[in-house]
Amino acid sequence: MRDTIKLTQPKEIVCIVCPNGCRVLCEPSDGGVRYSGYQCKRGLAYAEAELIRPMRTLTTSVKTAFADAPVVSVRTAGEIEKSKLREVAGELGKLTLSKRVKIGDVVAQNVCGTGVDVVCTSDRLVQSL
Ligand code: SF4
Repeated sequence: MRDTIKLTQPKEIVCIVCPNGCRVLCEPSDGGVRYSGYQCKRGLAYAEAELIRPMRTLTTSVKTAFADAPVVSVRTAGEIEKSKLREVAGELGKLTLSKRVKIGDVVAQNVCGTGVDVVCTSDRLVQSL
């Protein structure tokens, strides 16, 4: 089933696809949405996606069992639904790595059923491998 856009009042979305940071104004119009303020098609696609299903990459850190690096930075390997950020962050907060990992190693698979893995983004644990 295709997601639909339900917009009852105007909303401004800052496009983050490129450094221009265009402010895209989204306004209800004849049962649909009228977009203005974007400078290219990528901005339009971004604004539509933000209204339908906003996605984000989560960057955080997790605990480890190692005194020389008690926490290590991680991020989702892809974007997850914005509405899942809190749940995923909570799940990662319960995690304690008992194995030394390096950049790119998966520390959690399919986190919270999102279909996205979480990978290590630091080599803090590598020195003692
Ligand atoms: S609308 Fe186009 S030019 Fe403007 S920020 Fe988005 S990608 Fe960049």
